[in-house]
Amino acid sequence: MLQFGALMIPYEQARQIVIEQAAAHRGGRPTVALPLQEALGYVLAQEIRTDREYPPFDRSTRDGYAVHAAEAAAGSTLRCVGEIRAGDSVGEALAAGDCVQIMTGAAVPAGADAVVMIEFTRREGEEVTFERGTQPGQNIVARGSEARAGQLALQAGFRLGFAELAVAGQVGAATVNCYRKPSVAILSTGDEVVSITETPGPFHIRNSNSVSLGAQVRLAGGSPVVLGHTLDRVEDLSAKIEEGLRHDILVLSGGVSMGKYDLVESVLKGLGAAFYFDAVAIRPGKPAVFGRCGNTWVFGLPGNPVSTMVTFQLLVVPAIDVLSGSEARPLPLLEATLATPIKEKAVLTHFVPARLEWQGRIPRVTLLTWQGSGDISALTRANCFVVVPADRLDIAAREKVSVLPRFDVL
Ligand code: AMP
Ligand code: MG
Repeated sequence: MLQFGALMIPYEQARQIVIEQAAAHRGGRPTVALPLQEALGYVLAQEIRTDREYPPFDRSTRDGYAVHAAEAAAGSTLRCVGEIRAGDSVGEALAAGDCVQIMTGAAVPAGADAVVMIEFTRREGEEVTFERGTQPGQNIVARGSEARAGQLALQAGFRLGFAELAVAGQVGAATVNCYRKPSVAILSTGDEVVSITETPGPFHIRNSNSVSLGAQVRLAGGSPVVLGHTLDRVEDLSAKIEEGLRHDILVLSGGVSMGKYDLVESVLKGLGAAFYFDAVAIRPGKPAVFGRCGNTWVFGLPGNPVSTMVTFQLLVVPAIDVLSGSEARPLPLLEATLATPIKEKAVLTHFVPARLEWQGRIPRVTLLTWQGSGDISALTRANCFVVVPADRLDIAAREKVSVLPRFDVL
């Protein structure tokens, strides 16, 4: 049997293993046809092509006058022969010596090759005088210049955010074929854990991990199935775990440390699980476990709430990404100036709750005082974690550090 910590690896490598394994066993994911309005956060299982040219006509980008550029030199005057509003159909070409008032988004008439902004004109009756010259093409987006008809607009594998939804809507894709969200079972373990609707005894704690994990699964693009909690007993654990193994991913909290009643790993093994790692060189979160049991990916996350949250963001999010049909999002690490010095002890990569603020454009990060990985109230003030590398446990104020934003806040 695997010794605890025998497979301890850096978190970057752990993520890589999760991504590679999930991609290798992704298989043909089931799909669902969704009305566009309900498809936010889903991943496209089809490509979407343009139905016509974009823009479909030469479009004015300004309110002003459509002109022959050569006739609208600074100081020249042209006769205004009418107006074109957005949505109007235009048939007649613009005659020499004429101009026509035009609105943003309206079609530029044949012959006209520029639009002069209304701000640079003076009008008396039908006479329009131009205060500045113009260039051919100015303030016009040419027909077909954004996209040709039948061109690829969105690829399969794209996650549908607001811009992608808008493009689908623009080309008339009112229903879109998407991958079903991976189903993620959530199971908390621990003799001390009671449901959030119960009144805990003096030495019991409410199951907040199932709440945070459910929210994190949803935010990451998975479909959470909360299985509640189980005692640290082999029979109870086995029964609940078997329930969880009906899903794409099973995330357990608690029971993966070295205590006498930390049984998750051995129960999973008994059910046939194989592990890719069973410790990650991070704090909080070192005992995190990743394996496969039957057709289900299994994550055993430590039960301390902040450890659970950090390991979820680092390790489970990429699995949900891949099983959603898209690429794993990179960790959005950024650099910030440290406001308070850091002193950490253990030789592990530390993720320290912190607050990122911007002074002008310079990001500045301040560590929060916290009582360790049980202190979730500290996290409500944190919008990020400072990533302290194992070889730099002492960092002075004003040095640059690497920061991992909390994936629901920044
Ligand atoms: P464990 O990883 O099982 O050793 O759990 C470590 C600590 O995390 C426990 O002593 C509890 O204080 C806390 N904890 C475990 N499970 C939960 C849970 N479901 N919700 C909130 N806190 C928990
Ligand atoms: Mg426990």
